[in-house]
Amino acid sequence: MMAHTPNAARVAKLIRQLLVELGEDPAREGLVATPKRVAESLLFLTNGYRQTTRKVINGAIFESQTNNMIIVRDIEVYSLCEHHMLPFFGRCHVGYVARDKVLGVSKIARLVDCFARRLQIQERLTEEVAEAVRDAAGAEGVGVVMECRHLCMMMRGVGKQNSVMTTSTVLGSFRKNSATRAEFLSLIRSPVHG
Ligand code: ZN
Repeated sequence: MMAHTPNAARVAKLIRQLLVELGEDPAREGLVATPKRVAESLLFLTNGYRQTTRKVINGAIFESQTNNMIIVRDIEVYSLCEHHMLPFFGRCHVGYVARDKVLGVSKIARLVDCFARRLQIQERLTEEVAEAVRDAAGAEGVGVVMECRHLCMMMRGVGKQNSVMTTSTVLGSFRKNSATRAEFLSLIRSPVHG
């Protein structure tokens, strides 16, 4: 599927119209450059649509003889909820058991960004990250846990200001083997030393 290439000038025009509709004066000093800035910001925050996991990984897959569990904890997540186009943000923990291949560490965070920079729901984002890690690394098992706060809940006064939503996806051996799953969960909860 060819990615749609958004037209920044057209997006800016729409934002200007939106400002008018909200009762603002887009010609006043503070707002003159706002449509252009919002357009640039939105294009950046949705640039995941214009990326592929293959491009993100860019060959950073390495041979490895060990089949230990690899964990990357506390990856920052910033995304936009598809229901309100408001941010949700928090942390993501990824674990996998490699089968002869491991991913460059920074690539896991890049994969998270690739899917987070789209309109999302947290559940799907969690699944997409897990599937991408499995497919890219050929991992025998993957676990992803995501803990996020949603501004659409926090700002709109539904009385859940401090609630954190947790989602998880386990695939392969993480799903089939409860000991593997338990090891993953305890490693992402254990205190960080050093
Ligand atoms: Zn929302």
